Amino acid sequence: MKKINHIVILLFVMTICSCINAQTKNKMDLKMEIKKDSSDYPMQLTDQEWRTRLTDAQYHVLREQGTERPFTGKYDHFYEKGTYYCVCCGVPLFSSETKFETGTGWPSFYAPLSKKYVGERQDDSFGMERTEVYCTNCGAHLGHVFNDGPRPTGLRYCMNSAALKFVKE
Ligand code: FE
Repeated sequence: MKKINHIVILLFVMTICSCINAQTKNKMDLKMEIKKDSSDYPMQLTDQEWRTRLTDAQYHVLREQGTERPFTGKYDHFYEKGTYYCVCCGVPLFSSETKFETGTGWPSFYAPLSKKYVGERQDDSFGMERTEVYCTNCGAHLGHVFNDGPRPTGLRYCMNSAALKFVKE
C-alpha cells in the first residue's frame, strides 16, 4: 500500500514539473517574439539605455505597454496649439488640431499626423480585443485606438501623456 502511495506522489510531482516547464517555455517564446519584433524598428537602444533615458513612469508606459492613470497626465485638459512628438525618439505623431475632449482622462486625437510613425497592432491583453498604437520608429507603446471618435474619421486615438512631448507652434 505504501508503495502505491509513493508511486501516486511521484506521478503527481512529475505532472507539476512538466506544467511548470511548459509555462517557462511559453514565456521564453514570448520574450523571443518581442525581441525579434523590436529589431525591425529603425531606432535601436538596449533595455538599459531605455531605462537610463526614461523615468520609471515613462518606461512602464512606453516599454512595458502600461497605461497611466486617467486624469493624471499633463496633456489631459491641455489646449495649446502645436505638435506632439514621441517622447522616446522625437518623431512627430499628432497635431493639436485633431485633439478633442473626451472626458476619459487621457489626451485623445481623431487622426495622427501621418501613418508613417503611428503604427497599429492587435492587443489581446487583459481579455480585451483592442488595437494598440505604437511608434514605428522606436517601437514605443503610445496608447490604443477605438472606433468611437468624432468626424471626420470616427476614430479616437487614446494616448498616454507620458508617451508625448508637446512643442508649441
Ligand atoms: Fe518613437
